[in-house]
Amino acid sequence: MSLGEVRNWVFDMDGTLTVAVHDFAAIRVALDIPAEDDILTHLAALPAQEAAAKHAWLLEHERDLAIASTAATGAVELVRELAQRGCRLGILTRNARELAHVTLEAIGLADCFPVEHILGRDEAAPKPSPDGLLKIAHAWGVAPSELVMVGDYRFDLDCGRAAGARTVLVNLPDNPWPELVDWHAADCRALKVMLG
Ligand SMILES: [Mg+2]
Repeated sequence: MSLGEVRNWVFDMDGTLTVAVHDFAAIRVALDIPAEDDILTHLAALPAQEAAAKHAWLLEHERDLAIASTAATGAVELVRELAQRGCRLGILTRNARELAHVTLEAIGLADCFPVEHILGRDEAAPKPSPDGLLKIAHAWGVAPSELVMVGDYRFDLDCGRAAGARTVLVNLPDNPWPELVDWHAADCRALKVMLG
């Protein structure tokens, strides 16, 4: 299958469609999370009350970031091209669904992603789990192998591989994970060119 033949596209959001602004080191310091710990995994293991308070802080912090989001190079043009071609479009993010929608509005792409096609951390187990991608494949009535997962980080690629989907790495000049990547593009503008 060539990239131009792919009909079902799932995107990571932060750092893929937007310019990455999360300062994960600062988040860990603010929430007293060890540097080596995964943030969502750490919060999930806390007592309920502490977890709720820290999730609330995270949501507020991320809301400010979402409102100020800017689109990554070529992201708007790529998504609009895919929409014009009649491709199905979804988002799988470790962010919250509501904030994903705010972010997509800020970069002018909210109309391309129906809310039910946006899976956040409350709709599916977070990446690198394949859970969200499998849910999207099921909802769309396609085999996971007919999906591509587009992302900027290893979790996106691991998720895609574990689900049996194809994977695309963007927004890194070099590909540090060749064994996990089917297509690599320096940014979404280059990826659009690869559609042919
Ligand atoms: Mg990302």
